[in-house]
Amino acid sequence: MSIVVLKLPDVKRKREERPRRCPYCEGETFQRWGQVNKPVKDVQVRNVKVYRYRCCWCKRTFRHYPEGNTRANQTERLKLFAVLLWKLGLSHRAGSWILSGLRVEISFMSLWRDVQGEAQKIKKRNHWKPVRVVGLDGAYVLGWGNKQPVLVAVDLGMGEPMAVGYVNEYDPQAVLRWLEPLVQRHGITVMVTDDLFSYKVVAEKLQLGHQVCQFHVRRWVGKALQELQETIPKEWLWVVDEIHQLINVLPPDDSRSLYALWKQLPGRRSLPGQSRSPLEQLRDLLLRLSQDWHKYCTFQSEPEVPWTNNATERSIGSMKMRARTVRGYKSWSGMESGLLLAASDIA
Ligand SMILES: [Zn+2]
Repeated sequence: MSIVVLKLPDVKRKREERPRRCPYCEGETFQRWGQVNKPVKDVQVRNVKVYRYRCCWCKRTFRHYPEGNTRANQTERLKLFAVLLWKLGLSHRAGSWILSGLRVEISFMSLWRDVQGEAQKIKKRNHWKPVRVVGLDGAYVLGWGNKQPVLVAVDLGMGEPMAVGYVNEYDPQAVLRWLEPLVQRHGITVMVTDDLFSYKVVAEKLQLGHQVCQFHVRRWVGKALQELQETIPKEWLWVVDEIHQLINVLPPDDSRSLYALWKQLPGRRSLPGQSRSPLEQLRDLLLRLSQDWHKYCTFQSEPEVPWTNNATERSIGSMKMRARTVRGYKSWSGMESGLLLAASDIA
């Protein structure tokens, strides 16, 4: 969660300097046109002085707010404070109680609107941002009764989520439909994922560079090798050692030596429908590794590409942590805002 460095905005009681430009016509000369004391909701300030001005050019009047204020009842500081309470895991109702302890009476519905408003700001900020490397990962989060599938896209340059989709990561067509416009809008060229089949399909269809997270690969390959070590004939154990070494070092153009190993192993003898012998399983593993090897090594030729998808998993971790105390989101739009905000920097 990114709330480590947070400075709440200043709130001033009045504004000394005059406006520079008319908000309507860009005119530059004004007459003062009265003043009001505006009550505001804030943890320190109770009311602020707002001057009205009249534009000498277009004759319209407008209010010139002191720093940290808008025409809203709440100051910018209070809005952000409310968002912060929510990010820390409080419900809107609990946030409203805490603020009433600080003598700020504010309904939990207003706090809900603050959180939605901040999420909208984040969405706007993300909309056209250039992103070269995207991390993708799926998760299930509680919403309207059941766990709902979501797909999270993280800008791996900044380590911040850029979008959350109501998409099942096991469905390549759905992933493709959701990702394609993002690829075009942000100029994405590389994706980092675990080695789920659907991501391979999507990377190929969209002609993206692809890095498969090496934590995942090491985990499943390590497990497979451990099992094979116990079961294959002893004279082939050196192949297992060889694969271990290749995975540890990840030499970028070693798909050929894997392929050569594959060719050395005896061909398939089991009939279709029969279960495969351990040696045949080793052979399948070699083939799969040699076919995917280039997807393990993209990070070696492209310095911006990380070799794991950790940043994406971290984002999903923050989203799940926040979702645990929400007791289930009520709608997709609320869920999208909540998840995005839970893992984003604010202010
Ligand atoms: Zn004007």
